[in-house]
Amino acid sequence: MKNFTYTLGGGIHRSPEFEKKGLAEYAVNVGLRCGHDCTYCSSRAMLRCHTAFQELGRKAFDTGYSIVDPSIPERVAEDAKRLRRKGLVQICTTVDAWAPEAQELHLGRRCLEAILAEPGWTVRVLTKNAAVADDFDLIRKHRERVIVGLSLTGTPDKDHVLAVVEPHASPVSERMAALRKAHKLGLRTYGMLCPLLPGIADAPAQIDELVQFVKDCGAEEVFSEAINARGNSLTLTEQVLRDAGFLAEADSISAIRKRTVWSQYVVALFQSIQQSMRTHMTTEKLRFLLYPSGLADKDRRAIKKDDAGVVWL
Ligand code: SF4
Repeated sequence: MKNFTYTLGGGIHRSPEFEKKGLAEYAVNVGLRCGHDCTYCSSRAMLRCHTAFQELGRKAFDTGYSIVDPSIPERVAEDAKRLRRKGLVQICTTVDAWAPEAQELHLGRRCLEAILAEPGWTVRVLTKNAAVADDFDLIRKHRERVIVGLSLTGTPDKDHVLAVVEPHASPVSERMAALRKAHKLGLRTYGMLCPLLPGIADAPAQIDELVQFVKDCGAEEVFSEAINARGNSLTLTEQVLRDAGFLAEADSISAIRKRTVWSQYVVALFQSIQQSMRTHMTTEKLRFLLYPSGLADKDRRAIKKDDAGVVWL
């Protein structure tokens, strides 16, 4: 990995998209390119027009590099003081504050400290790195104001497959251990089952295992979403799986590039999660994030008939 630094504008931003999802009103992002380098990362497509890529001589859709802003905690501190309307902030929405390059600069912890120093703010932590557990001492001091989530993208028996598509994130087994620890320490938690890739993490038994797990960890809510097909996420994911010899998994990713198959995957995924939530928890705590534009009419109608737990986007 090549790690770049770059100074971004601002610290705490409004995030209408994440507010609509029910995740947070504000976002803090510690850089522009996350070093976890997940092949399905939709941030590459979302941020592709940023001038930083050209300035640093990199292509937005390339892999193998990260971009962090070492000065972000100072601007977060300024904004935390300056903004009159406080609310729920997510760290982060387009990168990961506990990715290796951000860890080196303690960006996750420093941003947390900056926000929590000001009354009125609450924080949603979202990461794919178990290193967040190093900061549970700080979070514990502000227990009521922080809710902790680690994205679970499969069951631990699929760690060897997920290592190919999430090359620098913690294995799911370690993320689970961190979430379990958070719960044992009395921290507030939520479930983030996202993305659940076809052929890797979408079988009803796997979903049951994940739902049961987050329930046991005291999850206040459970968010879930299908893989986002923006940019080159599907082609890159298929390619690395094929190169690593996971041919059946690569075929499953390839198949959902066809709209009808994509739509069937999303419906089946939602219905499995909804069923699992009904069995183990309640759909009142489910937030299945759903963009209806890619759904076939009959699939959209099937979901509409019983859409308890859907957040229509
Ligand atoms: S952890 Fe999240 S932000 Fe980082 S590369 Fe993976 S999907 Fe993108």
